[in-house]
Amino acid sequence: MNGKTGWGDWWPSALVPAPEESGAPPLLEPDEPPPFEIVNPTGQANALLICDHASNRLPRRLGRLGLTDDQLQQHIAWDPGAAAVARGLSARLDVPLILGGYSRLAIDLNRPLASPELIAAESAGVRIPGNQGLSAAERNARLAALFLPYHQAIAELLDAHPNPELRLISLHSFTPWLAGQLRPWSVGLAYGRDPRLAQQLRPLLAQQADLLVGDNQPYGIEDSYDFTLPTHGEGRGIPHVMIEIRQDGLQTQAQIARWVERLACIC
Ligand SMILES: [Zn+2]
Repeated sequence: MNGKTGWGDWWPSALVPAPEESGAPPLLEPDEPPPFEIVNPTGQANALLICDHASNRLPRRLGRLGLTDDQLQQHIAWDPGAAAVARGLSARLDVPLILGGYSRLAIDLNRPLASPELIAAESAGVRIPGNQGLSAAERNARLAALFLPYHQAIAELLDAHPNPELRLISLHSFTPWLAGQLRPWSVGLAYGRDPRLAQQLRPLLAQQADLLVGDNQPYGIEDSYDFTLPTHGEGRGIPHVMIEIRQDGLQTQAQIARWVERLACIC
């Protein structure tokens, strides 16, 4: 930590005790992967790519949270295809990239700490047995092992980034069907109070005739729902956008390569 941004900026001491006071054992065992991965940290492009929902891995101590292997492959556990596009873009544009290392079902890296969806008891109609009735110590163990290190790493990347023209691009994917409704957009650009980057990218994406581009659809950015871009983008005055790609466009290597090329051309 270099002192510019610390956990204290986000840690709601009134909500939960600090992790060292919780008494819980560390969630991750020493041989497990770290809570985040940084790719191309010295990339020279004037952006940072972020992929909150890159992985469906669960910490060993959490087992499968009572879910089946099939359920853990579904969108409730991660954003299928998003990490592959992010890695491709990072290489193609020479952009640093940070990816979350564990499933959003362990803790959602893009939810505010007070959100009931931070550690979801249910997701898209699926009850998550391993997330029912957690103690404060169990919640704190997940915050301390997964959430806080990830966001601290983003803060450090931004502190260290020398480029004053920095942009933040958060990559997600969304399921084509939710609650029986088809979502028609091929891709969505989401923004909150800062539409600058979305406004730059939208006309470029919309030029691609086969794409239906969502304007804050299927999701926008809201303080009650999102954490990553409100904290690191809006919080620092950095132009930012969330790009959501529909998951049925990310099922093959060829589709993923196509999205990498599309986004590389407009970014
Ligand atoms: Zn996502």
